[in-house]
Amino acid sequence: MALRDLSARFDCCSINTATLGHREPVEVVAGRVAAAGFSWITPWRREIDEAHPARAAAAIRAAGLRVAAYCRTSPLTSGTAPDWSHALDDNKRALEVAAELGARDLVAVVGGLPAGSRDLEAGRSQILKGLEALMPTIEATGVRIAIEPLHPLYATDRSLLNTLAQALEWCERLDPDDRYLGITVDAYHVWWDPALERSAAAAGPRVRTLHVCDWLRQTRDPLLDRGMMGDGVIDLRRLRGLLEGGGFGGFVEVEIFSRDHWWQQDPDTVLRTCRSRLQEVC
Ligand code: ZN
Repeated sequence: MALRDLSARFDCCSINTATLGHREPVEVVAGRVAAAGFSWITPWRREIDEAHPARAAAAIRAAGLRVAAYCRTSPLTSGTAPDWSHALDDNKRALEVAAELGARDLVAVVGGLPAGSRDLEAGRSQILKGLEALMPTIEATGVRIAIEPLHPLYATDRSLLNTLAQALEWCERLDPDDRYLGITVDAYHVWWDPALERSAAAAGPRVRTLHVCDWLRQTRDPLLDRGMMGDGVIDLRRLRGLLEGGGFGGFVEVEIFSRDHWWQQDPDTVLRTCRSRLQEVC
């Protein structure tokens, strides 16, 4: 099938601000992202004054950008009931701020194994219960939660949601009418999955955003050594084709955590490189 054209002012492309290493205030980053020709941005909570989000929202709008999504939830797994309800409250606040920013989605990194636990299924039930408890706030704000499956090496500390098939199963179970949840597919987390072809075709319409970067063959750090698209082993064009073939029509968003390389480069150079690589390899 023919893939969508990514070049026309990058109308379906977004820059996740982590790509620039959180080095500058979001107002400055938004100006750079707009100047590089992008129309969409996904900021992180650490960049937004959540007591006064209107200021950041205005600055992003003034730059001519719209907010694709907001990163990200607090973990929905925890060892104690007070911690769990504190996380729920925090995630409700994140949804409200996302709404003030005009974001379509709040990205969910759902949480790993609570300290001291070996019980994967108990952790996963906590997450499902948490997502369900957030649904009234999703309804009230109009911002969906886009659950992001993470590579299984993060199961301990970040996420007990580890494959695209599992994300789809959770969405279908909790949200059969497709009103509250969605899926963020990050190429970095799913590229290795032998079931990817089938899962991508099935999940297509539920997928809100495709995060792109690359897995470097000689990666030095599974968290902070992501590569620029085209510099590693992921067939990004194939992945996008699988998702679009399944009905995906959401954002393609660059998200590169690269402490020692890209975060050390001039931000405008990074954005120019993102732009050309999106066209060449995505
Ligand atoms: Zn991601």
